[in-house]
Amino acid sequence: MPAWKRVGELSKEVLAEEMYELKIITQFSAAHRLENFYGKCEALHGHNWKVEVYLQGERLDEAGLVKDFGELKARTREVLEALDHKYLNDLPEFRHQNPSSENLARYLFDRLTATLNTNSVRVSRVSVWESDTSCASYFLP
Ligand SMILES: [Zn+2]
Repeated sequence: MPAWKRVGELSKEVLAEEMYELKIITQFSAAHRLENFYGKCEALHGHNWKVEVYLQGERLDEAGLVKDFGELKARTREVLEALDHKYLNDLPEFRHQNPSSENLARYLFDRLTATLNTNSVRVSRVSVWESDTSCASYFLP
């Protein structure tokens, strides 16, 4: 077999040639305050956080889907239950780290990855908007 062909086959295994990406948008409401921060977010206050979940897959199932949007939304809702209408600083996950939008994005990414990732589908990014103009994202580069 010519070397170029072996290389071609190898790269096909390693690199996806095409990718589909899904995104859902949802939200939760909660209160927090930021320690070691001098500004408005130092005081107890609340946000209606908008959450964007991105899912990537290389293949479609028999129905032509990466993942059923309904299932993606249901799994995300389950994960958000732990945060919705809570005082985030009281949760064990945020006793020793601030419930900043950055840390919330990583928290959600870790939990959504655990419940949604399969051999063919993975959570690729989670974005958390704390206002209409301010957003933090977490992903694995
Ligand atoms: Zn805040």
